[in-house]
Amino acid sequence: MEKSRIEYVLKKIEEQTSNAVEEQEKILENILKRNAETDYLNKFLHGQTDKQLFKKYVPLVTYEDIKSYIDRVIDGEPPNILTTEPIIEFILSSGTSGGEPKYVLSTAECSQKRASIPMLMEAVIHKHIEGLDKGKGMYLLFSNPDFDTPSGLKARMFSSSYLSSPTFKTTVCKYVTTPIEIILSLNKPQSMYCQLLIGLIRRHEVLRIGTIFASTFPNCIKFLQDHWKDICSNIRTGHLSDWITEQDCRTPMSSFLLEPNSELADLLEPIFENESWEGIITKLWPKAKYIDAIVTGSMSQYIGLIDYYSGRLPIISTFYNSSEACFGINMEPLNKPWDVSYTFLPNMAYFEFIPVDKESPQKAQKLHFNGVSNEESIEKLENGNAQIVDLVDVKIGQYYEVVVTTLAGLYRYRVGDILKVTGFHNKSPKFQFVERQNVALSIDRDKTSEADLSKAIKAAEIELEPRGFLLTAYSSFADTWSIPGRYVLFWELKLRDSNTDQLKLDSNTMEQCCRRVEESLDFTYRLFRKMNLIGPLEIRVVKFGAFDELMNFFVSRGAAPLQYKTPCCLKIKEAIEILDSRVVGKFFSNGNLA
Ligand code: AMP
Repeated sequence: MEKSRIEYVLKKIEEQTSNAVEEQEKILENILKRNAETDYLNKFLHGQTDKQLFKKYVPLVTYEDIKSYIDRVIDGEPPNILTTEPIIEFILSSGTSGGEPKYVLSTAECSQKRASIPMLMEAVIHKHIEGLDKGKGMYLLFSNPDFDTPSGLKARMFSSSYLSSPTFKTTVCKYVTTPIEIILSLNKPQSMYCQLLIGLIRRHEVLRIGTIFASTFPNCIKFLQDHWKDICSNIRTGHLSDWITEQDCRTPMSSFLLEPNSELADLLEPIFENESWEGIITKLWPKAKYIDAIVTGSMSQYIGLIDYYSGRLPIISTFYNSSEACFGINMEPLNKPWDVSYTFLPNMAYFEFIPVDKESPQKAQKLHFNGVSNEESIEKLENGNAQIVDLVDVKIGQYYEVVVTTLAGLYRYRVGDILKVTGFHNKSPKFQFVERQNVALSIDRDKTSEADLSKAIKAAEIELEPRGFLLTAYSSFADTWSIPGRYVLFWELKLRDSNTDQLKLDSNTMEQCCRRVEESLDFTYRLFRKMNLIGPLEIRVVKFGAFDELMNFFVSRGAAPLQYKTPCCLKIKEAIEILDSRVVGKFFSNGNLA
């Protein structure tokens, strides 16, 4: 990115965040003016465009509340149902509604705003890391098929829409090692193979390694373990493996595999053959300055794995985004993963915030306002009386659920994410991502959130370190068939210094881990355990690569590889079976909880 362009983009970010109040006013005004006559808004506002009336009469909604309107658009009913702007496509969110993906309307303007985010981030990163324009990024990016809807419009994942956008093709593509045809190939294994092969051939140009969400990394490491011999042989002979049959992969590869390169193969093979793969990323790509991958929220479980393979290169979580709206970018990219906050961009959508009491001694799974009971506060919320605040009015240290109103027909839509305010960048708040507002595990009246589970597992990981184990992924389910029910955690472990599949698990350590998790869960959990309303927590250790199979399973059911987030909790029987069939050891918490 040119210096003048970086300065221009940074100046724009400063301007927007300084004018957060005006930008938010402007965007809401714009949305109301354009859409007051839609079927949806008309029902509440009768054609009026007053902002206060909007807040008073338009209800807070979830997907289920507006599904009937969205279904009408999908079915191709005449325009003006949710928005007067022409819809260009539907974006499929990775969240589901009754087992179906959620459809989000997209307009040209929204799509353009969304596509602008990586360029904003690029400018921020260039400001903090010098010399990136001297080379390229090896970005592992994958596309997903789209499909037609009765309306005649396509439906696709946000990542696929972004990768085929003009912005990506004309700008981002310039600084990545892989040609666009390979990125857009729908054959993921062939695309991944070629992306890694090109990345290795161009290894001295690679200054950063990235993807979108960190969950792609374990997949990529497993893929390298399975394919490095093939990759090195292709480099040595100058011929691409015959199993790469897709023309969109084969054709562009011919400009990279020009002639046999035994020198490079001789250099790479000993790196792969090494018993330990610790720091392998920096050995393969010695000029890499950082890893670009989102490691906040449920992705934080991959920090250990990335640190291990990258030899602790900085990890940059770039932006916070969803199919529904773009929220913010990370203005301090070199902060440690646990300290990452996202500065909201006030021109992306109109944002409101529902205060959430996370410090309540009761569970935080319900909303709680100003000392009012949960039930009352929900009633208040449903009646539209809760103390919902504007973007610029959030308070540092307070937790909120984010609500968006977009240019593409979402009005006061509860995204379901819980965020904590950590500060302000000019007038715009910075938020730490806390969790997706869903209960991960539940037995009896105990409800354990994703964030609580993640914290408890982190506390237990300390037990693994002296034994040389690394926790590379986890998930869980509530085993309600046992009496009493109990929480079961699946842990994928690997030995730090070896690539062996043979893990010698020590029951004492593993039982201690079970115990540590239990001790770190909250008051209600511990109380219920003491009362024997919940049985001893179980850890099932699975073979390295098991979570890769889990991802393949979800991808085969339509999840986009780039948007895939390892479920913190499994609800589908087949998914549980995939991990169960790869269990190498089961351990239970024993003894009484203090
Ligand atoms: P999707 O609509 O499939 O793109 O998923 C969007 C959801 O992914 C958001 O609502 C968040 O729950 C999660 N998400 C997106 N960006 C981040 C991030 N930077 N950190 C943590 N979670 C994120």
